[in-house]
Amino acid sequence: MLILISDAFDPGLPKKLSRYGEVTEDKSRLAEAEIVLIRSKTKVTKEYIDSAPKMKLVIRGGVGLDNVDQAYAKQKGIIVYNTAEASSIAVAELAFALMIAMPNRLTEANQSMHEGKWLKKELKRTELYEKTLGILGIGRIGTELAKRAVAFGMKVVAYDPFVKSNPFAQMKPSIKEVLNVSDYISLHMPLTDETRGMINKETLKEFKNGAYLINTGRAKSIIEEDVVGALKSGKLAGYGNDVWYSDPPENSPLMNAPNVVMAPHIGASTNENLLRIGEIVDKLIGEYAGKK
Ligand code: NAD
Repeated sequence: MLILISDAFDPGLPKKLSRYGEVTEDKSRLAEAEIVLIRSKTKVTKEYIDSAPKMKLVIRGGVGLDNVDQAYAKQKGIIVYNTAEASSIAVAELAFALMIAMPNRLTEANQSMHEGKWLKKELKRTELYEKTLGILGIGRIGTELAKRAVAFGMKVVAYDPFVKSNPFAQMKPSIKEVLNVSDYISLHMPLTDETRGMINKETLKEFKNGAYLINTGRAKSIIEEDVVGALKSGKLAGYGNDVWYSDPPENSPLMNAPNVVMAPHIGASTNENLLRIGEIVDKLIGEYAGKK
């Protein structure tokens, strides 16, 4: 059995998995692979599946399965798993880091110090304490973020059409009711027909003036041009972003927009998370091998 590791996993994983069969990171051997391990970079499209005739199991280390043609995989009898529960803390901590970096002016403070400037008077900060955080999509990651925000003395409200209650957030019946009252809005829903382009010119009008937006969910939940417009007009005080229309971004208007704090899609990339993902991958392959 050949296991192809197609994207970045914990460096110790190939050795760990070698007890199940041969492990390779050579993508040119896709046609021979029975199990393929991916994260977000590899796109398991119809063409990809057709060029992997021996493939029986795809494991996506991470949450979103929007890079896998699940319907076609099912048709071909290929099992597709993710490691959904592993990444929650890693992503929630990055969302929190973005949320704390912006009002504390951390990137400007650091940049100006490197430039030899002393902006002690100019860099006025604001506190998270007693501010309202609005969470769209309060599943695993949204809940971890809410828990942390409560510890900082924030009030947390949330909209999620599939969740009735949450121990850390007051649920609101519509997106509008969250946007109207929130000083910070953090996106944690999956990319679906309903969430695609959810943050756009119209919904941005419902934000409080000077609100901050944080996106560690999916890039296409927002219309980039509309968010840039809101940053330029001051409607948004800042945008903390980890996710992009493509990895890396090509011609994104966010690159030259004011008050954007950017990360290169590193939400899941903690050492601890890669180890957790590795453990789940090992368990799933063990179960698969046991059934053969
Ligand atoms: P989850 O399934 O536990 O939570 C998602 C929540 O979104 C669910 O509660 C669901 O009911 C809700 N939802 C669905 N449709 C909605 C809608 N129309 N409006 C509002 N809420 C809606 O998933 P999770 O583990 O919390 O992950 C959330 C998302 O985070 C993933 O789908 C993925 O896109 C993203 N993610 C990003 C990174 C990264 O590297 N930045 C890593 C992991 C996950």
